[in-house]
Amino acid sequence: MNESETRALVESRLALIPDFPEPGVLFRDLTPVFADGAAFHALAEALTAPFAGRFDVLAGVEARGFLLAAAASVAAGVGVLPIRKAGKLPRAVLREEYSLEYGTAALEVHEGELPPGTRVLIVDDVLATGGTVAAAARLVERAGWHVAGVSVAIELAELHGRDALPAGLEAYSLLSY
Ligand code: AMP
Repeated sequence: MNESETRALVESRLALIPDFPEPGVLFRDLTPVFADGAAFHALAEALTAPFAGRFDVLAGVEARGFLLAAAASVAAGVGVLPIRKAGKLPRAVLREEYSLEYGTAALEVHEGELPPGTRVLIVDDVLATGGTVAAAARLVERAGWHVAGVSVAIELAELHGRDALPAGLEAYSLLSY
């Protein structure tokens, strides 16, 4: 399936939920895409295609990024690095905090999980303000790996999340609103 066919299929399965999780937010729910085999597989492949040959591992951001990274990793024949919310990983971790609308959150990875210089493609469902993916990118760099790029299913362009990412970092989104 080519990129525009994938875009149309994924968009046809997306659910739009007004005022979730709070008033004023239009939530882009990918669960119907995950539940549709053709759409899910096409989306997973579309996320890695622009970076073919330029990554060694996919990093998935908890929790919806896990699904996309895991599916894409099977197609690409690479492993997965789980980037988890604070307090879930059992060994020594690196932690990066980031701002939410109210307060802060933190992401963690196991230090030493990958060899130095490993090229990591970061995968998530939605790029909104960019805080989540920017924190993931900082974690990868601090761990001694290389961020090969960022790939998301949906970018909310009006929130300018790209501007929050490290300068020069390549970011791909299948759908942009
Ligand atoms: P941000 O750190 O602002 O870029 O937020 C990104 C995270 O919040 C993503 O991992 C999404 O899961 C979630 N998110 C933010 N806004 C939306 C939205 N409108 N619809 C669905 N998920 C969203």
